[in-house]
Amino acid sequence: MEIDHSDVSTFRSQLLNWHEPGDRPMPWKKHPDIYWVWISEIMLQQTRVDQVIPFFERFVQRFPKVEDLAASSEGEVLKYWEGLGYYSRARNLHKASKVIAYELNGVFPENLNDWLSIPGVGPYTAAAITSFAFNHPNAVVDGNVYRVLSRYFGILSPIDSTKGKKEFATLAQKIISEVPPADWNQAIMDFGATVCKPNQPDCSHCPLNRDCHANLEGSIRELPVKLKKIQKTDWSINYLHVHDGNRFLLRRRSKDGIWGGLHEFPTLESPGKIGNWMQKNVPDSDFCIKKVTQIPHQLTHKNISATFYELKANHLKLNENSDFVLADEKNLTTFAVHSLMKKYFTIFMG
Ligand code: SF4
Repeated sequence: MEIDHSDVSTFRSQLLNWHEPGDRPMPWKKHPDIYWVWISEIMLQQTRVDQVIPFFERFVQRFPKVEDLAASSEGEVLKYWEGLGYYSRARNLHKASKVIAYELNGVFPENLNDWLSIPGVGPYTAAAITSFAFNHPNAVVDGNVYRVLSRYFGILSPIDSTKGKKEFATLAQKIISEVPPADWNQAIMDFGATVCKPNQPDCSHCPLNRDCHANLEGSIRELPVKLKKIQKTDWSINYLHVHDGNRFLLRRRSKDGIWGGLHEFPTLESPGKIGNWMQKNVPDSDFCIKKVTQIPHQLTHKNISATFYELKANHLKLNENSDFVLADEKNLTTFAVHSLMKKYFTIFMG
């Protein structure tokens, strides 16, 4: 789709006139240091600004420099990430800190291609980091940008098609070529997050409404166009909350896949096998089933139905080479646990 040069100029100036840089205070903007920019951009992947702020503040207080992050354990980094979700980001951030601290001698890359070789950094994040930290003219293209551009210019190309991605990236790059890059990228993201929102855009107060294609044509609900909708799958899990009154069993999930590296209760495929499981893993102890609780939980791609079996054992003792650890209320804060476990702890353990 060919877009008229004057439409691009109008869009640019309307959006920049609307933007007041201090309108959405973000702690990482107070201190435009490359380390802060990088940490904030990784945290902001698929996560809203208001959710990120408290995590960011705690994280940079504990790891003020890239060398501090590189010298820490992965378990501790995950602990500081606990509750923010998408934990592969934390593991990649930790890996990347070692690359920057030890292989690059603490010197951060400056250009887009060098950033693309850093673990956990894709095209969007590389564009954001290089524009915010170095003012390089690299346009960010994320869900906010797709939405704003598709609605304003009436672009019907699907945003998840190769052709559509190329078309949006070319347009975004054309727009940024004549404006201050950092200001522009921040302006369009703020606009998408606060005015041209996914479900209820504030069209009546929008300063772009007289020229916005979707507003004039009444096609806001249809834009942006997507080929596929996310298909959620169902997942059932049985958790065993095995305790002896104070202490309980936890195990660490494997590093790969969902909730990688985080702790949770032991799991069991079939509840009919609880007796065998206890005999094998908690030797020399009688037990009784105290409570069975069902907790539904949603992730982006999964509807989880979790059943928690509370098993009271009279004596918890671990086998040699056991995969489990013994936790209690006092040392629980040293283990990073995932969102579903947190939900259980909040409901049943205060
Ligand atoms: S008029 Fe509505 S749809 Fe168009 S840019 Fe403004 S908020 Fe978005």
